[in-house]
Amino acid sequence: MTGPFPYWHGVPREEIEWHPTVDPQKCTGCGACVVTCSEKRNVFGFDRSTRKAVVMSPDNCMVGCNNCQVGCLWDAISFPDKGVARTLAKALPEERLKRELEDKLRNDPALVVAAAPLLDAATPQSRAAMALLRGVR
Ligand code: SF4
Ligand code: SF4
Repeated sequence: MTGPFPYWHGVPREEIEWHPTVDPQKCTGCGACVVTCSEKRNVFGFDRSTRKAVVMSPDNCMVGCNNCQVGCLWDAISFPDKGVARTLAKALPEERLKRELEDKLRNDPALVVAAAPLLDAATPQSRAAMALLRGVR
């Protein structure tokens, strides 16, 4: 397994079919997608000979993101149906997400808006949110 993002919430990234596809017939070579995709991910490269964007590192694409598609004014970028990402999100274990959130807040205290309560203590809200996301009542 290679690349800087080998897993998505514990799921091997190579098992997830989510990345942009460029239609070279529509691509005008404006470069917006190359610039838009974050420097850490750099999914796109640019072919100077054809003056077209090229998907170089599809597994670096953030699952569920479609910023480059939105920003392509020539509709040259397509993605799988967003239902693919939603289905994957619904299947994520709640405990894992909680743990990842707590780890992130611990590692970057600047993200904490109010000191209390901790996520574990806020189960009614978090459970309601997760139930909504999963379509459970
Ligand atoms: S934003 Fe669209 S038109 Fe511009 S380079 Fe990327 S794919 Fe091509
Ligand atoms: S969807 Fe987001 S992460 Fe994926 S290639 Fe486009 S801008 Fe980059």
